[in-house]
Amino acid sequence: MIYMRGQARDYDNWAKLTGDDAWNWDQSLRDFMAHEDHYKLDGGADPATGDNSRFSDLHGSGGEWRIEKQRLRWDVLDSFADAAVQNGISKTDDFNSGDNAGVGYFDVNQRSGWRWNTSKAFLRPAKSRPNLTIWTQAQVEKLTLARGDDGALRCTGARVNRDGQTVTASANKEVILSAGAINSPQILQLSGIGPAATLRAHGIDVAKDAPVGLNLQDHLQIRAVYKVAGTKTLNKLAAKSVWQSQNRRGIPVQTLWPHEHVTQPAGCFHPALTPAAPMPTLNTTSNPSASRRLAIRCMTSPRSPSASAT
Ligand SMILES: Cc1cc2nc3c(=O)[nH]c(=O)nc-3n(C[C@H](O)[C@H](O)[C@H](O)COP(=O)(O)OP(=O)(O)OC[C@H]3O[C@@H](n4cnc5c(N)ncnc54)[C@H](O)[C@@H]3O)c2cc1C
Repeated sequence: MIYMRGQARDYDNWAKLTGDDAWNWDQSLRDFMAHEDHYKLDGGADPATGDNSRFSDLHGSGGEWRIEKQRLRWDVLDSFADAAVQNGISKTDDFNSGDNAGVGYFDVNQRSGWRWNTSKAFLRPAKSRPNLTIWTQAQVEKLTLARGDDGALRCTGARVNRDGQTVTASANKEVILSAGAINSPQILQLSGIGPAATLRAHGIDVAKDAPVGLNLQDHLQIRAVYKVAGTKTLNKLAAKSVWQSQNRRGIPVQTLWPHEHVTQPAGCFHPALTPAAPMPTLNTTSNPSASRRLAIRCMTSPRSPSASAT
């Protein structure tokens, strides 16, 4: 639920690697802004300053993708941020400017405190359109490929297992493959696009010898858990209280967890110290709770210079 774009140099690097300028930061920023509905532009201006000149260069308003400020703060997280500042990391109130260096509370995909996901934002409003058909319980087995007169390989559709039946969906214009970091490369490999030796070892005809599936970067984390005293933690509160809250119809409900709580409400992006890095390569996030103890949990994730996720 944290709203986090990548760093500008990641997009520029993808444009360089693919030779396609559509990936560069300036073009991607236009796409981000086109679908954003950013709280800092509610009412046309940043509520803190009345000025939207800075954010309107970076954020959009009126789009499907709602971005809100978290509706919580914790003393222990403010202390975490102060400690980061003491160690040379500047405060930031926007991690999504193309340079996510800094420390602060993350912005989130919520609407009035409730999680706002891609299904609610993009799919539900579009699902009754006559030109959209959604198949669930359907598994893509492979892409269908054909060579044009010029010899170039084109994707023409997908072979899908639907309710135990194999059906082929054909495309008039284009196919977008978005099956996630593991399954997209797997489907490409099953379709014959991948390292030739790997495909042959699995009896798959090679349509294109390509390094698909060779550069998976995981989101490794080191968890450090500290017991703290003299301050509130979520563990302490959850141990003896229930949250009074309201559901979306305004009816009071009690929960053991404040429903607006984000797993890692605050954090920072910073360069690794050894070896010294010129740009943020580490993401440290902080949470006023621990699964087993009363503690503040800090998680530090090593980030490759070319990775862009949270
Ligand atoms: C625990 C966790 C927390 C995260 N928190 C955040 C966060 O706070 N903020 C953030 O920005 N990102 C977060 N991420 C990362 C974010 O979830 C991913 O970057 C994002 O979901 C990737 O979207 P995607 O559409 O590329 O792939 P996915 O969301 O993985 O979607 C792929 C879809 O394809 C379907 N699929 C796969 N194979 C097939 C097949 N053969 N046939 C048919 N369908 C198939 C899958 O079922 C899935 O629905 C988090 C990830 C995790 C795991």
